[in-house]
Amino acid sequence: MTLPPNVYDAEPIPAAAGEEIERLLNSGDLFRYTNEDSPVALLERDFAQALGAKYALAVASCSAALFLSLKALGLPRGARVLIPAFTFAAVPSSVVHADCTPVLVEVKDNYRIDLADFEAKLDGADAIMISHMRGHTSDMDTIMALAFAHDLPVIEDAAHSLGTQWNGRNIGTIGRIGCFSFQSYKLLNAGEGGILITDDADIIARAVIMSGAYEHNWKKHPVLHDRFARWQNKLPLYNTRMSNILAAIVRPQLAEIPRRVRDGRRNHDYVAARLNASPHLQVPAALDQELRAPDSIQFNLTGFTDVETQAFQIAAAARGVKVQVFGMSTDNARAFWNWQFLGEVPDLPQTRAMLSRACDARLPARLTISELDTIAAALTGAAEDVKEPELAYST
Ligand SMILES: *Cc1c(COP(=O)(O)O)cnc(C)c1O
Repeated sequence: MTLPPNVYDAEPIPAAAGEEIERLLNSGDLFRYTNEDSPVALLERDFAQALGAKYALAVASCSAALFLSLKALGLPRGARVLIPAFTFAAVPSSVVHADCTPVLVEVKDNYRIDLADFEAKLDGADAIMISHMRGHTSDMDTIMALAFAHDLPVIEDAAHSLGTQWNGRNIGTIGRIGCFSFQSYKLLNAGEGGILITDDADIIARAVIMSGAYEHNWKKHPVLHDRFARWQNKLPLYNTRMSNILAAIVRPQLAEIPRRVRDGRRNHDYVAARLNASPHLQVPAALDQELRAPDSIQFNLTGFTDVETQAFQIAAAARGVKVQVFGMSTDNARAFWNWQFLGEVPDLPQTRAMLSRACDARLPARLTISELDTIAAALTGAAEDVKEPELAYST
């Protein structure tokens, strides 16, 4: 029997990172503002260029980027921010951190925002934070048109969407601000870290100051200085800067993005076709405008009861593949009813039903075709174990 593939180990970090870190350690030059060509500044320059954005600000995490985005928009205390009800707990948390109120929008069983519920909740909203959860892009054409009609700013949480395109445009450049993560489970792995991009000079100036560019450190950012002068001493300093070590780890990985995106998409589409051939599993299709960059796969169990769903997870594990059903564990940080810090749990039956049958499996870009075959066979086999146990004896 073939051993199940290891889907947990990360890829090695390019050797150039080690050399740069050695140089930084020898000089002790770890703070981004000791000079204007620091590794953090170079990362910002290269990332903005790679994505096609005017400005970038590297920070401690994507959560910090989301928080600073809300602050940079100047939203008042209590402002209502629409977010999808299917996302990571860090997203509503960043809204709470910014003294705003998250308003959860229903998500469909293709993991994308329910546009009817979105439209119904626009009245009274002050901002929109679109989380492209697990890299599934919601319909940005409709969302941007509705946001424009209601004069609402859009922040894109693109933590899982680096390399995804929408109508040929990079995700993260469609809204007013785009936020990305360098946490280990994302396309670029620095352990921790995040970055925000925007074309808006006022927003970048405000975000730079609040990220901790105290005194005149903002002069080391390539942004028109009059923008900063306007906000000097008028904004709190939240000190959530990135260190040079983190930037040195991320920067040599930028060259890896095209390969990781291409292989991740190949892996995903290969396994998706195998799963869709099973009557029990369904992988939602990409939207027409969308060219995805997945590093994991999500699929729905069709016609399963709760008991069968639990049995499927056990059967897949027995076949060597760990699957999590977002809504079937007590502590999953992507199940909105576990966000008890928000107060009363809203009634979102559509999202709840989706989360109770939606499965999540890791699918790193480095896997080989035969490893993908093993994973696909384990998943379809586990579904048969549950739904067609007689097959196990007839073969
Ligand atoms: C990982 C993730 C975040 C948070 O990123 P951090 O860098 O860990 O703060 C936010 N949103 C989504 C969709 C994520 O997957």
